[in-house]
Amino acid sequence: MADDNWALRGDLLDFTGEPAWGQTQPPEVRWRPDHWVLVRGRHIEAVQAEPPGPEWRRVEHGGRLVLPGLIDTHVHAPQLDVLASYGTELLDWLNDHTFPAEARYADERTAQLGAQRFVKALLRHGTTAALAFSTVHEQATHALFEAAHAQGMRMISGKVLMNRHVPATLQDDVQGAEQACRRLIERWHGTGRCAYAVTPRFAPTSTQAQLTMAAKLLREDPSLYLQSHVAESQAEVQWVRELFPQARSYLDVYASCGLLHRRTVFAHGIWLDDEDRVQLRDAGATLAHSPTSNLFLGSGLFNWRQAHDAGVRVCSASDVGGGTSLNLLRNLAAAYQIQALLGERLTAWSALHSVTLGAAQALCLDGEMGRLEPGCAADITVWDWSHDPVVQHRLSLARGLHERVFAWFMLGDERLLRAAVVAGRVVPREG
Ligand SMILES: [Zn+2]
Repeated sequence: MADDNWALRGDLLDFTGEPAWGQTQPPEVRWRPDHWVLVRGRHIEAVQAEPPGPEWRRVEHGGRLVLPGLIDTHVHAPQLDVLASYGTELLDWLNDHTFPAEARYADERTAQLGAQRFVKALLRHGTTAALAFSTVHEQATHALFEAAHAQGMRMISGKVLMNRHVPATLQDDVQGAEQACRRLIERWHGTGRCAYAVTPRFAPTSTQAQLTMAAKLLREDPSLYLQSHVAESQAEVQWVRELFPQARSYLDVYASCGLLHRRTVFAHGIWLDDEDRVQLRDAGATLAHSPTSNLFLGSGLFNWRQAHDAGVRVCSASDVGGGTSLNLLRNLAAAYQIQALLGERLTAWSALHSVTLGAAQALCLDGEMGRLEPGCAADITVWDWSHDPVVQHRLSLARGLHERVFAWFMLGDERLLRAAVVAGRVVPREG
């Protein structure tokens, strides 16, 4: 049920554009303490300092931090089952943990329950929109869209394409996969806030013919998304070199098939070269940096600054279950640490922008989400600053907004979330 005509009070933080790298006081940070967000139906109607009139039901979160709903640009719906799986790097991790877990989604009921669990988990972690991998199964992908649609949330997903180098139970073929994609696109692309992403898992698990089929789908409908992985680990890059000897680079496997466009989002991109970055920039494609995943699997340190300076769009993502938390604050804290190891400093503003307005722009959805702005969908999160006396003490000593917000997300997590609002509806808290 949508709560009609209500107003939320709190300290509003969002962005009017991309903050410059390394700047702690950029003009694009919009800080509106003690303001009201007026919500009518599914949308934000106004944002104002004055209290609203009596026709607006008031919801008080005075003193709490109010952000746009967070946007996860790379996450795997079936992988809650393999969070924190011990002892492997990417390729072994897929074989030992991930493929067996995904195989269970062949069962319709397992897939339904898994989809519902995943969508609720996202919301409980402050994520109100996602670009997510399903499994290879058509039914499981239906189930994921259904679960998200029931919550009114923005979900971009697709059936995973993989027709080789995976267990036989998870293998599709070019023709069957194409038909399944077409049925899913017909049913879900543009239904409510659902959209379809053509989803080759990664180059090693698709033949050239399957990648070419994926590109055909994209050519036929440029409003479709493309999500995949690129250059995550060195062993993977080496394998791609062996499988596609004619390609200049891993990225070039996708580019030469026609899979690189404005709505393309590649997870990772740790092991790219300058020419790859130029290609990504020219296409307007996005890298979904997945910090806790890169650390957990030991894949490498993503050089955000290098990608940024090359003009490549970079968002931050959880990549659960390679990543260790669905909560994007935890992932941003890891992103800061990765940059620190590379001798760079990621500001709180670049970090938060990459999971709000920056992510919305990457998905061509900045008219809909990522900002606290009239006309946008009312996707809003409300956060406590802290629940802990040590953190409270630290925040009280902050010498400015950047210092305070930085310490907040470095030390915080989903337990600080007080409310998530999706398209005007307050998500009920469970448990
Ligand atoms: Zn992934």
